Amino acid sequence: MKDDILIVGAGVAGLMTAIELMQAGLKVRLYDTGQAGMESSWAGGGILSPIYPWHYPDAVNTLAHWGTQHYPDYFARLEADTGIDPQWLVSGHLILQTDINTPAIAQWAEQFSIRLEQLDQQQLRVIEPALNSKFDQALWLPEIGQIRNPRLVQALKAYAIKLGVTLSENTEVCRILYDADQVTGIETQTGQINGERVLIAAGAWSGQFTLGNRQLDVEPVKGQMIQFQTTPGTIKRITLNEGRYIIPRKDGKVLTGSTLEHSQFDKSIDDGSQQELHAFATAIYPALESALIINHWAGLRPGNERQTPYIGQHPEIKGLYFNTGHYRNGIILGLASARLCTDIITGNEPILPPEPYALN
Ligand SMILES: Cc1cc2nc3c(=O)[nH]c(=O)nc-3n(C[C@H](O)[C@H](O)[C@H](O)COP(=O)(O)OP(=O)(O)OC[C@H]3O[C@@H](n4cnc5c(N)ncnc54)[C@H](O)[C@@H]3O)c2cc1C
Repeated sequence: MKDDILIVGAGVAGLMTAIELMQAGLKVRLYDTGQAGMESSWAGGGILSPIYPWHYPDAVNTLAHWGTQHYPDYFARLEADTGIDPQWLVSGHLILQTDINTPAIAQWAEQFSIRLEQLDQQQLRVIEPALNSKFDQALWLPEIGQIRNPRLVQALKAYAIKLGVTLSENTEVCRILYDADQVTGIETQTGQINGERVLIAAGAWSGQFTLGNRQLDVEPVKGQMIQFQTTPGTIKRITLNEGRYIIPRKDGKVLTGSTLEHSQFDKSIDDGSQQELHAFATAIYPALESALIINHWAGLRPGNERQTPYIGQHPEIKGLYFNTGHYRNGIILGLASARLCTDIITGNEPILPPEPYALN
């Protein structure tokens, strides 16, 4: 039997959408150049909030808000059905040296019902005793959580396969095929596969496809990350300062990231960035000075200038859909994007107004 939809890319965007589509009754085949979930979705930090969310358009915060409401059940179901714990943890989020009275912050918090407090130096010491005492104020978002990326993608892959998604790894999609205004399939290194519906979820690579006379404005933005080993509980809170962050995992691993580099598809890491991230982290948490760096990696975010992902249907080519361009927020936006994309494909009532995400 022919697949109802072919998906290009098995990161969080492709996997989550495949799962939603299977649950909506479609037959799904998913392709990835490498192994599922091993690109940006593996490399990310897993903070379940945009960074400085009030700087983003409402369209992004609307998806994030929907995800925040639905993720707890989703993660529980994922673990129950796969036996893989994605380590969802509500560790709370400190945003240092930021004032709650900034009008944009107050407006965002009210619009999206975010619990928010201003902490002074003394209150900070209680919430996060390991913090360098030179910091004297912070925003505190106690309800913000994190997920552990490698475990999340492992669980999503297992769940997708369990639901019946056909996963073709190590299979690069070279071209999307269409005849006039209708998609007819895809071309891989090993041949053509016919299909009347194709979804592009190829992360940072999505801009490489020519789609009629359009191309998606999606470009890779490299992020390097380092990881320390500490005793569990040394640092407790996700901490953000001047655009960079520290994420403490349950087992004492502490992630620090990340750089923002426009270097095409180069994923190399360098000592200079490691030193910069180390200096950033130890200035905030002096306890990290004696901790070993046990890992250093880079991932390619699917960046786009309008800051809002592309979720929807191609305006001229029937059967061609996309769910991509999530930039720094693909994990927190993943579930709502997948559900919205599925609604658009199946013609169901969309969970959110789709217009802001359209390609136009
Ligand atoms: C350092 C870093 C930190 C981050 N931190 C956070 C965070 O804290 N919170 C958050 O929400 N987000 C974060 N992000 C962003 C988030 O990780 C991404 O937005 C998200 O993973 C994108 O998912 P994706 O599925 O679109 O892309 P990817 O995970 O990159 O998946 C795309 C897949 O498509 C495949 N592919 C590409 N081209 C083809 C082709 N031609 N044929 C077949 N397959 C193809 C690739 O092999 C890849 O597996 C971070 C990203 C980085 C790099």
